[in-house]
Amino acid sequence: MKIRSIKSVDVDNKKVLIRVDFNVPLENGQVSDDTRIKATLPTLQHLIDNRAKIIIITHLGRPEGKVVEELRLDPVAKKLAELLGKEVKKVNDCIGPEVESAIEELQPGHLLLLENVRFHAEETDNSEEFSKKLAALADLMVIDSFGTAHRAHASTYGAAKLLPAYGGFLIEKEIQALSQVMHDVERPLTIIMGGAKIETKIGIMRKFVSQADHFLVGGGLGNTFLAAEGFDVGESLYEEDKKGVAQEILLEAEALKDQFHIPTDVVVADEVKEDAKKLDIPAEDVMGDMKILDIGINTIKKFEEVIAKSKTIVWNGPLGLFEMDAFSRGTRHIAIAVANSEAKTIIGGGDTIDAIKDFGIELEKYDHVSTGGGAMLQFLEGEELPGIEVIREGN
Ligand code: ADP
Ligand code: MG
Repeated sequence: MKIRSIKSVDVDNKKVLIRVDFNVPLENGQVSDDTRIKATLPTLQHLIDNRAKIIIITHLGRPEGKVVEELRLDPVAKKLAELLGKEVKKVNDCIGPEVESAIEELQPGHLLLLENVRFHAEETDNSEEFSKKLAALADLMVIDSFGTAHRAHASTYGAAKLLPAYGGFLIEKEIQALSQVMHDVERPLTIIMGGAKIETKIGIMRKFVSQADHFLVGGGLGNTFLAAEGFDVGESLYEEDKKGVAQEILLEAEALKDQFHIPTDVVVADEVKEDAKKLDIPAEDVMGDMKILDIGINTIKKFEEVIAKSKTIVWNGPLGLFEMDAFSRGTRHIAIAVANSEAKTIIGGGDTIDAIKDFGIELEKYDHVSTGGGAMLQFLEGEELPGIEVIREGN
């Protein structure tokens, strides 16, 4: 797949609207992890060097269409200015008169950061009206956010449809790395999935089940599969209404002779806290008010065995509630096993990467660290992502 590169367009003195993913964690009003900002620097530097008038747009958190003071982008502007060693102006909205006059004053090679686009409900609704207002701000658009590429929102898709649109260096790198996995995958291919966003993951699993040689499932997602197998999952995080899909996946996996592994033993506690009394028990012994918060030791061993014989590994989603030490063992063991494996390893997902950083494992230990979770899986599964479709050559 080829995308239109920003290198192919003259941006001199042009108003360029660039969609990035600056959805970064904030602590005490400051950016506490600037990885996502750093990832866009090559593209921004290219625009600076080539004298574009740079208008940056991003979302932060889930303000759900309202102004949320804590989710304003002022700390992000400050951090970006620090990283570039250059002034970054910031406005308090992403459309309207204040924005228009700031753009009017913008000099070539200078940067303007627009306010959190999700303060407008029209963003996630991909409203045509709102897309037009965004598009009217610029001469052309650059997409450099892979994490949002699977969403057809106004700033990731709608506005880009209305302007000449190009891909930045970050998205180009993602596409190259992930395309390679898709086209000549070395087998056995193992997919490891966990996490909490069951709704967004289970559909993708269904498509993957015929492609993967091994499937290792844990976390909240694993709980839904345990429930689908008929186990009592107590008060664990799981999705009752996804049991049916999970059963279909299990059936298909069986028919395809897939090596489909769900936890055989688990760590349970009756409270979600560090010093909760916890037990390592077989999955079939879960009951009452127990909560499954991690995979058990036998499951870890089984997963490690599969990882050791894999040639390609794709991992998205923590295998337990890793934020608490008490329930981080499963995720830590798997993170280490994948890091040390000889296989080509691809990992993605905000929380998965946070977990790896928490454990002190270097990201360089993995072959490709994707900035997308859901987007990475959908891309690997061969689906056209709206945010990539708009910058694909020929479109
Ligand atoms: P990613 O961002 O890597 O795609 P998700 O957002 O889907 O992952 O899920 C991450 C979250 O899932 C983490 O906050 C983690 O604590 C939670 N989680 C994983 N397993 C469990 C579990 N068994 N019970 C409760 N929460 C869990
Ligand atoms: Mg997440």
